[in-house]
Amino acid sequence: MWMEQKAAVLKSRAWIELSAANLRHNVSCLRVLLPKGCELMPVLKANAYGHGAVPVAKLLQKMGIRSFCVATAMEGIELRKNGIGGTILVLGYTHPEQFRLLRRFRLTQTVVDFDYAQVVNQFGRAIRVHIGVDTGMHRLGESCENRNRIRHILSMRNLRVDGIFTHLCADDTDLPQDKAFTARQARAFSEVTKELRKQGQTPLKTHILSSYGLLHYPELGGDYARMGIALYGVLSKPGDLDRCPADLRPVLSLKTRVAAVKELEAGESAGYSRAFIAKEKTRTATLAIGYADGLPRSLSCGAGHVLINGRPAPVVGQICMDQTIVDVSDIPGVTPGDTAIVIGGYGQKIISVCDLATQANTISNEILSRLGTRLERIVV
Ligand SMILES: *Cc1c(COP(=O)(O)O)cnc(C)c1O
Repeated sequence: MWMEQKAAVLKSRAWIELSAANLRHNVSCLRVLLPKGCELMPVLKANAYGHGAVPVAKLLQKMGIRSFCVATAMEGIELRKNGIGGTILVLGYTHPEQFRLLRRFRLTQTVVDFDYAQVVNQFGRAIRVHIGVDTGMHRLGESCENRNRIRHILSMRNLRVDGIFTHLCADDTDLPQDKAFTARQARAFSEVTKELRKQGQTPLKTHILSSYGLLHYPELGGDYARMGIALYGVLSKPGDLDRCPADLRPVLSLKTRVAAVKELEAGESAGYSRAFIAKEKTRTATLAIGYADGLPRSLSCGAGHVLINGRPAPVVGQICMDQTIVDVSDIPGVTPGDTAIVIGGYGQKIISVCDLATQANTISNEILSRLGTRLERIVV
């Protein structure tokens, strides 16, 4: 759900606010870092890392961005149906039954390896593709060692090969072994692309950088930088943002409302399995958000907290599917309808996605990408 009217917020039980200003700011900061001739290719997979693919794509389109990545054909179709133009590259696997949709919605498909290229070719009608090259991640892509196979893919009759790319898998640290591995990946990719150029296949677009790649190895160049997490003003692990060469600002805040306030006597319990038992008189607030909205259940029993009136309210007992109980004993005057901040800031107090990820023992990317579709998304 996406509503542009601020009024919608007032009626919402739980919602995401997208800061258009921060997204614009991140785009300009990242553009400064781009190598010469390289364009941003925002990654809008998983509903734009939970932000809402359609509103984010619309904002980016207004900033002049004309190339996007998604993980699945269905994600690409959603963007097309909402008026997003330009190139949309599907980074993941598409079933042959859906090849006709690639054509119908003018999507560009990743060739995940040589065998898949043959399957795409057998479709019998032209499909636009970028060739994925595996330089060491061993996930998708034809092996960089199989130059003949890659050349063969280029000559397949029904493939319109617009680009070729690889993905770095150890570009997020400055450990010497990771730097050496990244250098090997980059060299392997550049050898493949150089050879293809020699064969007169020059117009092929190349790309190798994603968020950490652009921040740490901008010199690797390419025609596109596939920007995911950094574009949203977040990095995967704590501390990375402090060391980052760009002044990235978080685009997303997650807010919910107090549905009810209760007074518990000592010995009374709250929530499923009676996981919380009050040691003393305790005031709780029940929030209208739960794990079905993407709030990790591992934040239960005090592992996580929210901000109400700028003060921390720790989670009490087990997080439920649609509700979460927090302790507001120390926050005077909490009333049903009040706003609670799950991700975001209130004055000097901030709960970042990274804080939540650390508390839930995961990375920011997972927290964001699991934010539920039933949350309303509004652009502020
Ligand atoms: C998800 C993904 C990206 C974006 O990665 P970030 O680290 O979020 O920038 C880029 N390329 C590929 C192939 C991906 O799967």
